[in-house]
Amino acid sequence: MHDYDMIVIGSGPSGRRAAIQSAKLGKSVLVVEKGRRVGGVSVHTGTIPSKTLRETVLNLAGWRERGFYGRSYRVKEQIGADDLMARMSKTLDHEVEVLEHQFSRNAVRTKRGHARFVGPHEVEIKGESGETQNYSAAHFLIACGTRPFRPDYVPFNEVNVFDSDEIVDLKKVPRSLTVIGAGVIGVEYATIFSALDVAVTLIEPRPTFLDFLDKEVIEEFVHDLRDRNVALRLGSPVTSIVVNGSVTTTLGNGRVVKSEMLLFAAGRVGATDVLNLEAAGIDTDHRGRITVTPETLQTSVPHIYAAGDVIGFPSLASTSMEQGRVAACHAFGLQPSPPPEFFPYGIYSVPEISTVGMTEEEVRKREIPYECGIARFRETSRGHIMGLNSGMMKLIFSTKTRRLLGAHIVGEGATELIHIGQAVLNLKGTIDYFIENTFNYPTLAEAYKIAGLDAWNRMVRQ
Ligand SMILES: Cc1cc2nc3c(=O)[nH]c(=O)nc-3n(C[C@H](O)[C@H](O)[C@H](O)COP(=O)(O)OP(=O)(O)OC[C@H]3O[C@@H](n4cnc5c(N)ncnc54)[C@H](O)[C@@H]3O)c2cc1C
Repeated sequence: MHDYDMIVIGSGPSGRRAAIQSAKLGKSVLVVEKGRRVGGVSVHTGTIPSKTLRETVLNLAGWRERGFYGRSYRVKEQIGADDLMARMSKTLDHEVEVLEHQFSRNAVRTKRGHARFVGPHEVEIKGESGETQNYSAAHFLIACGTRPFRPDYVPFNEVNVFDSDEIVDLKKVPRSLTVIGAGVIGVEYATIFSALDVAVTLIEPRPTFLDFLDKEVIEEFVHDLRDRNVALRLGSPVTSIVVNGSVTTTLGNGRVVKSEMLLFAAGRVGATDVLNLEAAGIDTDHRGRITVTPETLQTSVPHIYAAGDVIGFPSLASTSMEQGRVAACHAFGLQPSPPPEFFPYGIYSVPEISTVGMTEEEVRKREIPYECGIARFRETSRGHIMGLNSGMMKLIFSTKTRRLLGAHIVGEGATELIHIGQAVLNLKGTIDYFIENTFNYPTLAEAYKIAGLDAWNRMVRQ
């Protein structure tokens, strides 16, 4: 009766995973993508480009070797925009290739164009030259993601004032950079450019930032940033930005920041305004986001699902993929098991941060009796070998049940190391796991044992 069993709008992580899952269940699927190539924000302007840029910077700047050879050590003396872009285009090509192959192997059809609803079971797809075609489906997944928030007071010009989508297409490495917005994206870019020895000022109107992280981890991180001369301007809003060759940013407290380039990274909005959602009977909030039933990912119209950044928190590629899978399973009558209680959060700043479970502040608020264990990477032999001067792991345990409540890491390898903590947490493991098990030596993972023993020593003294 319909052209397809499932039409997916957007080919980012949630759309891709939903499309493949639907196809694996033997359903006919069409993915509509307005971009030139499939992959979404994740592949083209978000996750993969920023992480590739980070890796290139750390390699060319010799960042990981500076503990031994000094702060002025560099693998490549002059690092230009071309150096940074070369690795990016190769990585993105590879990502797109893998995805296209996945789609074709699973008989997922793709169509390039802008989709908009013309009815609850029908979309119109407008191609590049304006031609339109209508398709109907039994189910839809809105996986259109977000785009950067661009307030009127910011003079974006694609020359020296950028949003976070444009910065990945950098034509020149600036000598100085102002980053407005100390959310995950702003912090990542600020620290990546700082690792390139660019003079960075990070501005955040609120007095604190990354508030969902454990305070002790943030303190360690901030100490690291100050040590590297990243200027933090917290607690005062921006009142004006003027471009006159360079960029002059004035803050409410009267401070003035001058830089060669500015990145505005304060928020993103759902890309729903062009979807004509009224025709499908769906509402959005003031940021263009769609509300769904968390367990099923259904919108207020039961055969239309939404997943990924368009539904808001946590807005990660990792969680978006899982949401896409759950939506597809539900649409075709499979009951997916509920997701594990804890998922990790990775922030690919320099140094990187990763966290899973409760922070010390949350544990205290819930009045759970607890003890913490701390390990510093410089206490591990692997840390000595790598020349690490910073990096720390904090584990929080219940003193009543001995169970791990949270793991928080800042430093080299944090986003990989966190998965040990995640496994123990989701499997309801206790401090004994860390004390009794043997870890490879020398590894940074040994920090788990050190932090476990640190907490245990405090617990037995109580
Ligand atoms: C700079 C940056 C760094 C990030 N780093 C990380 C990270 O390290 N780890 C992590 O887990 N997450 C990271 N994220 C978040 C991650 O990129 C997103 O959570 C993820 O991409 C969301 O996936 P999605 O399924 O919502 O689709 P998106 O990736 O947002 O893609 C949506 C797609 O829909 C298409 N589309 C929109 N409207 C239409 C329409 N009307 N018709 C047709 N197609 C349409 C768009 O062209 C786009 O291709 C980062 C994001 C940014 C911006």
